[in-house]
Amino acid sequence: MEFEAVIGLEIHAQISTETKMFCRCNNDSFDKEPNINTCPVCMGFPGQLPVLNKNAVEKGIRAALALNCKIPEYCKFDRKNYFYPDSPKGFQISQFDEPVSIDGYVDVEYLDNGKFRDLRVGVTRLHLEDDAGKLTHVSGGTLVDFSRSGTPLMEIVSEPDMHSAVEASAYAREVQKIVRYVDSSEADMEKGMMRFDASVSIRPVGEDKLYPRAEIKNLNSFKALEGAISYEISRQKKEWEKSGGPMKGQITVGWNDEKGETFFMRDKEESDDYRYFPEPDIPPLEIDQKMVEKFKKEIPELPNLKKRRYVEEMGLLDDDARILSSDLKLALYFEEVVAKTGDFKRAVSFINTVLMKHLREELISVDEQKVSAEMMAGLINLVKDGEISNNLAKGEVFEEMYVDGKSAKEIVEEKGLKQVSDSGVIEEVCKSVIDANPQSVEDIKSGKDRAIGFLVGLVMKEMKGQANPQIVNDLIKKNLEG
Ligand code: ZN
Ligand code: MN
Repeated sequence: MEFEAVIGLEIHAQISTETKMFCRCNNDSFDKEPNINTCPVCMGFPGQLPVLNKNAVEKGIRAALALNCKIPEYCKFDRKNYFYPDSPKGFQISQFDEPVSIDGYVDVEYLDNGKFRDLRVGVTRLHLEDDAGKLTHVSGGTLVDFSRSGTPLMEIVSEPDMHSAVEASAYAREVQKIVRYVDSSEADMEKGMMRFDASVSIRPVGEDKLYPRAEIKNLNSFKALEGAISYEISRQKKEWEKSGGPMKGQITVGWNDEKGETFFMRDKEESDDYRYFPEPDIPPLEIDQKMVEKFKKEIPELPNLKKRRYVEEMGLLDDDARILSSDLKLALYFEEVVAKTGDFKRAVSFINTVLMKHLREELISVDEQKVSAEMMAGLINLVKDGEISNNLAKGEVFEEMYVDGKSAKEIVEEKGLKQVSDSGVIEEVCKSVIDANPQSVEDIKSGKDRAIGFLVGLVMKEMKGQANPQIVNDLIKKNLEG
């Protein structure tokens, strides 16, 4: 029997605020001593009143708008009741039936077996909630760090619109880019700022019914997301074939990264099990629609549209456009360099190869290094104007700019790197190289064109890379003919 997989994702992303969702504790506890960022509110002491973080709500709304969601006139918070040792309150403050946003979508372009495909994934809702603490299991017991508890989260719930691990991963990557573009979340998976729950079911091809699903909890990398979904799809197919039908009910499973397998955790709880009720300590929230309109206007051009514009209007290669549009700061850097040089080809090549090599090695972003867009444009303009060669610009000059933060012009002047375009000077060197290499001259005359490149290389070497290579090429040919 042929099966089709049906996949929906819940994405939890940490909202990038200074303080927590309902108290004034510091929101940055990654890699810090445990339990330093806590107070009676986020520790769930009796009688403590939560106060909603306005900035978290605003950032949530900005993200929701970028995901094409509608923002209702008002929303409310609810208690989701469950017991777990990482939750000091005994409940999570979340949103149930009246979330801050509903009904959006994300357009995703992804590569499937070497072909680009388009997919629109519906976004059911983005709602706001607080995070639990962090448990660490050690020999002899379990440790708990409450610094994380009360961290502001947005949960982005998709429609079951994906049908493969590749599609789910492409959607998740697009959401990551989008929440970063609007500065709502750093979405750094290594720091636990973004994680996924994936719902997976299968059905015979041609049916549109939804069968009981497995919810895979807490996937914390794209690799885990893809691996877990692929594994779960094939596990369910085997089960179906063996038992002659779908799973009996919904289940919750975990993912074992080392074994590359999902494992059964429990039968899935329904929302009734959580005894949701309105959070009595936080009044319903009216959302100023004028503010929403203002936020809408402030959404930057989003990554998929930027990428398309780079390809269609500027003529960039797909891969180059994808890299440059993946991060808003990088995209704006690129656009500024193009504006100041009028040379998108060189801008792409200097940024994507030379600069990105350093950024990748050092794991930093474009605004965390010394070569500003203006300086990069200055460097490219020197090449354009024939002042220095491409190789020198990308090598010695850029490296020094990167280390010292000096402008290209300063470096070229200090080191006397100006390209020589004086054909009289170059011709002298060409002649002596030709005289010293009779064998190469023979080779060229007998049709081995590659030997010309060899002579050009010798001239360039002799002139320490400062000769204009086009002029060298022309003069070698001229002198051989003559
Ligand atoms: Zn607190
Ligand atoms: Mn949640």
